[in-house]
Amino acid sequence: MGGRILIVDDVATNRIVYRARLSAAFYDPVLASDGESCLEAAQSGVGSRPDLILLDLNLPDMPGHEVLRRLRADPRSRDIPVIVLTAAQDAAARLAAFAAGADDVILKPASDRVLLARVRNLMRSQAEFAGDAALPGAGFAEAPASFEPPGMLAVVTALPSVAADLQAALTGLMRDRLVALTRTQALAEGLADTTISDRATPGRSQADVFIVAEDDSGPGASLRLLSELKSHQATRHAAVCLLVRGSTHESAAMALDLGADDVVDQSIPAAELAVRLRSLVRRKRLGDRQRARMQDSLRLAMVDPLTGLYNRRYAGPHLSAIAARAAETGTPYAVMVVDLDRFKRVNDLHGHAAGDLVLVEVARRLTANLRDSDLLARIGGEEFLIVLPSSGMADARRVAERLCQAVEERPIRLPSGPGLTVTVSIGVAVSDGGASVDAVVEQADLALLDSKVSGRNQVTFRLSAA
Ligand code: GH3
Ligand code: MG
Ligand code: MG
Repeated sequence: MGGRILIVDDVATNRIVYRARLSAAFYDPVLASDGESCLEAAQSGVGSRPDLILLDLNLPDMPGHEVLRRLRADPRSRDIPVIVLTAAQDAAARLAAFAAGADDVILKPASDRVLLARVRNLMRSQAEFAGDAALPGAGFAEAPASFEPPGMLAVVTALPSVAADLQAALTGLMRDRLVALTRTQALAEGLADTTISDRATPGRSQADVFIVAEDDSGPGASLRLLSELKSHQATRHAAVCLLVRGSTHESAAMALDLGADDVVDQSIPAAELAVRLRSLVRRKRLGDRQRARMQDSLRLAMVDPLTGLYNRRYAGPHLSAIAARAAETGTPYAVMVVDLDRFKRVNDLHGHAAGDLVLVEVARRLTANLRDSDLLARIGGEEFLIVLPSSGMADARRVAERLCQAVEERPIRLPSGPGLTVTVSIGVAVSDGGASVDAVVEQADLALLDSKVSGRNQVTFRLSAA
């Protein structure tokens, strides 16, 4: 899978040992011996930044906590996962590292198995957004953590007392909400049919973190639930923390490899559990924001902002796909080019804003008179492309005439002045699958020209030759 890992340690032998281990696991290690060079590498250009940092807390030029704080304060390095490696046994130092923004704190000497499982695990969540840094706004304009709404933690346990104990222990340490779920309820969340818009609905009980408590059914049951949660649409982006009773390196590493985001022993101090959970909420929220941004930019690349219709860039490949399917199945398809008549005059007489309103309303009427399976795109200023899959001449004629009528029949209301009647001209070409897509569109364009020349507000056909 690979990925660049920055190893920050003041002791040369440590750097060399970790470099060897990570190289053997096919990562690309880079080395730094102090805080300044760590910050410099982490805050360098997008192409040379590390994907993950292994940070020793004991550095010659500044305390490791200071390095963490400065990494988290800079938009260029804010989202890079950091694993702190420390020989310090004391809980306070671990807590301080989490508080300063560490994603995990591992005691030295670290077990290879656990360290690599943790690295894989954090890399996986980063890899989902590979290349995302190039998106507009990446790493910037994110709400500072303090403005974030509280997270939602779901403790999954068959024993109400476990949930109550946890609730009592975490009270005052976190402002996130904690609810108890049975395994069945947790799985039901996973199977819930959530769409993106559902998720955005406030009050929907979507857990950010599932805390799966090991009970008398044993560790196997927790691992099974983990796999289920990670495989269902509605829960797969939530973080999962396994709360275990005495874990070995081997079992912890296995859980991490199965997708657990953290594995903690039930005996750890509440304060450490709280910071670990907080770190999971933070990373889960970061993923949510990155996904939302990716969806936005995908949508923006396909959709015309004025009318909400697909744009020309989207229309091309979609049309090719329809044509390919038509050729496969031997069914005809129809291409229409729709152009507003004398639209320049609308702008000249009523202003550009009124022109925009007309475009939006025409787009709405076209949409209302087409099937979901038809393609409708705005391919020019006042020009639309429509593709009707599985449609021959008779279907296309009926649809095109209905569209002309739907645009003309009711005046379009403008904020000022009387309603405005507009018309469209349409050129239609029907393909039996033989001709190239470009040739079919060209025939539709020529047919549109015929409609314009013959007086506008009408439909003209061409049968595209094979
Ligand atoms: P024809 O019947 O021959 O198609 O005449 P027309 O006036 O519609 O065609 P022409 O191509 O001369 O003018 C198209 C006009 O569409 C010119 C341009 O100002 C206007 N237009 C293009 N995009 C937009 C837009 O996004 N908003 C507005 N308001 N007008 C637009
Ligand atoms: Mg026009
Ligand atoms: Mg035009």
